[in-house]
Amino acid sequence: FQRIHIENKSNDELDQMGHTFNKMIEMLENNYEKQQQFVSDASHELRTPLTVIESYSRMLKRWGMSDPDRLKEAVDAIYDESQRMKGLTIQMLSLASGELDQSLELKEIDLSLLTKETSKKLKQVYEREITVEACEPTIILADDAKMKQLLVILLENGLKYSSDELRIILSRVEGYVKVEVSDRGIGIPNQDIPHIFERFFRVDQARSRKTGGSGLGLAIAKTIVDAHGGKITVKSQEQVGTTFTILLPDLQRKVIRDEGKDNE
Ligand code: ADP
Repeated sequence: FQRIHIENKSNDELDQMGHTFNKMIEMLENNYEKQQQFVSDASHELRTPLTVIESYSRMLKRWGMSDPDRLKEAVDAIYDESQRMKGLTIQMLSLASGELDQSLELKEIDLSLLTKETSKKLKQVYEREITVEACEPTIILADDAKMKQLLVILLENGLKYSSDELRIILSRVEGYVKVEVSDRGIGIPNQDIPHIFERFFRVDQARSRKTGGSGLGLAIAKTIVDAHGGKITVKSQEQVGTTFTILLPDLQRKVIRDEGKDNE
């Protein structure tokens, strides 16, 4: 990339054009660097399970398949790592398509109902306690599938990084619907909080690998919230717990208000 220098400062229009071009170049540079980083992080993440698969299959080729213990160990490892790769690939695709395609299939959904249904399913799968506090139906305009994905990411994280009950509270604040997901788990160290939504970021690589993490969940969550014009924030204290707060524009209310205006 090359910056544009325009000598003739007396010409305001040219000056403005040069400034705009330089801004565009800066943006392209930033995007390019981000993309390079993503490709390099993704390759690194995929190489680890691939190396495990490669070395176990090499072991089987060299030692034959006559030892049942060795055979079981190798097949289990190959299966686990291929599952991990599959999960990672699905998440990477979801992140890439989310960033490329910001189009949402907006329709009226009851977020309270969706939260209750999603929690119920996860409660059964993980056999853990999840409580949802939502006193009224919360109708918002949102993409149903993406909202479900967002809830699953936050709830599964809460379940992974705590062993206690999860709590979800839905409420309305000025112009927004607020969803708070709280756990009483291991928490996030203060210095890591600013990085928590970055792709591939994990507080503790070793610990997260054991829990099957990829470091992409929260990056996907942020893409979904951003696409809906919302905000996602986190408050956390180590060994005390973590609360993720999502604010989603109360589009439903806005539509009703705007329609009201038309009739005035
Ligand atoms: P992962 O797949 O590793 O869970 P995420 O992007 O969902 O990736 O989360 C990034 C990191 O943030 C996790 O590896 C974990 O260290 C930390 N984290 C996320 N949610 C929680 C939570 N509820 N409690 C403690 N740490 C969390």
